[in-house]
Amino acid sequence: MVSFYEIVGRLAVYSLAILLALLLVSLLLGLLLIKKKKLILPHLLLFTMDALYLQFKKVARAFGLSEKLVDAIGIEVRNHLNREKFARTPPSERILVVPQCIRHIRCPARLDAKTGISCKDCGMCIIKDLKAEAERLGYKFYIVPGGSFVKRIIKATKPKAALGVACHRDLNMGMHEISRKSCAVMGVPLLKDGCVETEVNLEEILRTMRLGIEEVAHEASRSCSSSPQKV
Ligand code: SF4
Repeated sequence: MVSFYEIVGRLAVYSLAILLALLLVSLLLGLLLIKKKKLILPHLLLFTMDALYLQFKKVARAFGLSEKLVDAIGIEVRNHLNREKFARTPPSERILVVPQCIRHIRCPARLDAKTGISCKDCGMCIIKDLKAEAERLGYKFYIVPGGSFVKRIIKATKPKAALGVACHRDLNMGMHEISRKSCAVMGVPLLKDGCVETEVNLEEILRTMRLGIEEVAHEASRSCSSSPQKV
């Protein structure tokens, strides 16, 4: 007769085997996404990545892969899942949040406790161009000193869509947090991490910012012209 402890032992072994299989399958799906841009079972992938985030990093390390890959997969899946809703959101209901580390090291701008760092358009870094385009499109634009500031901004502005720029880890965590507030969040990770003068792909940010803008404007003008005119 099988003893109680044997049953518990077997259950533990089976659970561990299932967990490991799930992690390996998800890691393979993630690699397929990053290397071949093929997205299979995105919801399962995202669920596993969020629920087993630390274990995922351990498995990635065990296979000689960078931990950054785990965050890159999370960002990519969220970008894919949120893209449509993001593109349908009018720019006036979107925010763009960039980290202070992309500023020039001699940036003259100062921190405001409510709105973050207020760019003075000195032109020493790409933020001047990002800010100009964000304002032209109608976004609310923020340069933030850290993740807790982002939470404060989200709470105060309640955007329907958000575009974030940050290092892989912060971006993945931030996107996870913001998605729970039914905000269509998209992200562009930094090309070079660090505390100062980090690097970003400006073209990718601009491309993402402009997602759906023409369609949203076209839709708005159609609904204006079809609404009854007052005589
Ligand atoms: S462009 Fe703006 S953010 Fe960049 S260094 Fe000048 S003031 Fe600072």
